[in-house]
Amino acid sequence: MAKPAKQFFSYPYLGMDTSVQKEHTCSTCSVVFKDTELQREHYKTDWHRYNLKRKVAEMPPVTLEIFEEKMSKHQEKMMVTSCEHSWA
Ligand SMILES: [Zn+2]
Repeated sequence: MAKPAKQFFSYPYLGMDTSVQKEHTCSTCSVVFKDTELQREHYKTDWHRYNLKRKVAEMPPVTLEIFEEKMSKHQEKMMVTSCEHSWA
C-alpha cells in the first residue's frame, strides 16, 4: 500500500489555505474526523486494523458498532474455551 505522500502540496491554486479546512478521513473505514489528532488515534485502534485486513481481502469495512459486537462475541468464545481446558 502506497502512502499518500506530499499530495497536499501539489495544489498551488489553493494558496489561501487559511480558509480551506482539509477533511481528515480514513478511506479504509469510511469515517471523517474533526482533526488530525483524532485521525491519528483512529489508526491505532483495533477497529481500523480489522478494516485494513478486510480491505486486503476485498471486503467492505464494518462500522464501529458492528466491530464491537464482533469483538464481544469473540471474547465470550475465548472465555468459554479457556474454561474448558480442553488441552490439559
Ligand atoms: Zn480506519
